[in-house]
Amino acid sequence: MKYISTRGSGSALSGREAVLRGISSDGGLFVPEKADFSDFLWKELMPLRTEEMAERIFEYFLDDFEDIPEIVRRAYAGKFDDPEITPVKKAGDFYVLELWHGPTAAFKDVALSALPVLMSEARKQLKKRDDILILTATSGDTGKAAMEGFRDVPGTGIIVFYPYGGVSPVQERQMTAAPGANVRSVAVRGNFDDTQTGVKKIFAEETEMLSETYHTNLSSANSINIGRLVPQIVYYFKAYSSLLKEGAVSLGEAVDFTVPTGNFGDILAGYYAKKMGLPIGKLVLAANENNVLKDFIRTGVYDRNRPFYRTNSPSMDILVSSNLERLLYDLLGQDSAAVAGLMKKLGEDGRYEIPEEVLSKLQESFAAFDTDESDTISTIRKVYRDDGYLIDTHTAVAWAGAEKYREEYGVSRPNIILSTASAYKFPDAVKEALEIPGEEKAFDAIRRIRDYTGTQVPENLRSLESMPVRFKDVIDISEMREYVENTVASGSLF
Ligand SMILES: *Cc1c(COP(=O)(O)O)cnc(C)c1O
Repeated sequence: MKYISTRGSGSALSGREAVLRGISSDGGLFVPEKADFSDFLWKELMPLRTEEMAERIFEYFLDDFEDIPEIVRRAYAGKFDDPEITPVKKAGDFYVLELWHGPTAAFKDVALSALPVLMSEARKQLKKRDDILILTATSGDTGKAAMEGFRDVPGTGIIVFYPYGGVSPVQERQMTAAPGANVRSVAVRGNFDDTQTGVKKIFAEETEMLSETYHTNLSSANSINIGRLVPQIVYYFKAYSSLLKEGAVSLGEAVDFTVPTGNFGDILAGYYAKKMGLPIGKLVLAANENNVLKDFIRTGVYDRNRPFYRTNSPSMDILVSSNLERLLYDLLGQDSAAVAGLMKKLGEDGRYEIPEEVLSKLQESFAAFDTDESDTISTIRKVYRDDGYLIDTHTAVAWAGAEKYREEYGVSRPNIILSTASAYKFPDAVKEALEIPGEEKAFDAIRRIRDYTGTQVPENLRSLESMPVRFKDVIDISEMREYVENTVASGSLF
């Protein structure tokens, strides 16, 4: 399969090239050149194990990679604490797809366990000599998952930028104490969107200089990389096969998925799965108070001119969702000029609108709901009390969205909620929700929740508290490029 930019410039690239480059030089995202995925034989996946499903899906999208079974093995073997990698549980009236059994207890692990392997294999197979420097802006979870994934992968280094004070204390410690000679994290005075814009600017302005002066090629671990999107498609098929095995659906019967959404990567993978034939009724987008995507799906107007809120589901505190561009490209019938036009408007006015018929197409596949912080808390409380099931804030936003969806649309199809983080990653909010007494925060709150619920703390969070902080830098947005150049120039990464 070949990849082209959503904004139309440049020639078609192979999967290996697209993974290595991350983002197109015209600012667009790489998308499959072919629009129709209906030749994918999805039913053959149903009896397979998760890893075997991953092999088939990688072989479909990334067909120029050699030895995909070995890539999948290196990506997942021994890294997840559940043999199914992404198990499905029944809780209350819903199914929950637990995506947080990996090394950092968040769903980003699923893709970021695979991306570094894909990247280093692409570099090796294409006989590239230059080092790869990953620059990543994170709203909290990508950062650590990427540092873990790239840790000590030969020929690669990674710098993670996160909004100062904009991530949870547990997330922050995961990044500041991360091991690996080739990893760095740095706090930026600004919010996630500022940080992401800063990274994009470095890509646009510094790529050539870094390549010429330091033989270092920039790439991205953000969900704009196609090598991150593809692994996320796998768990939609896995979830469906779990329901099939349980007899909750018969082959071909539709299910809904509810996805707590920020940068639109997770839910876009679901859209690709639907295009590949998986019987998905609706993809229900769940947002917190930063509900720009919910408004877009309901009205066709994308308008980022609104207040930015820091919420208790910080990984979804985003007003500019990069991956939406890939959906637009598809909905607009692969019209890259039209996509480029909308993105130009977004840059200039912070706002754009799609035509009525495109909106109807959008609403055929998507429904959208938002939930505020206090309902997020009460949902965690209710789900634990009624169903004995412990969820984090992001999953709670999805849970509340799934309930609202069923009510507004009057549907009772099986609904699979994507659970994107362990409850222990956001202990302060979870402790408040469960009304556990005491003033403890962060690591002490983790112990309190464990004692109260009798559930297990993921191993990687248990050992975190005793790990020393390695990275203490706090910089301004305007200092990001200098930070990158200095780090590369020091020669300490590679
Ligand atoms: C990243 C993240 C999300 C949002 O996923 P997107 O692919 O950015 O839409 C939701 N929940 C958690 C816990 C996350 O880390």
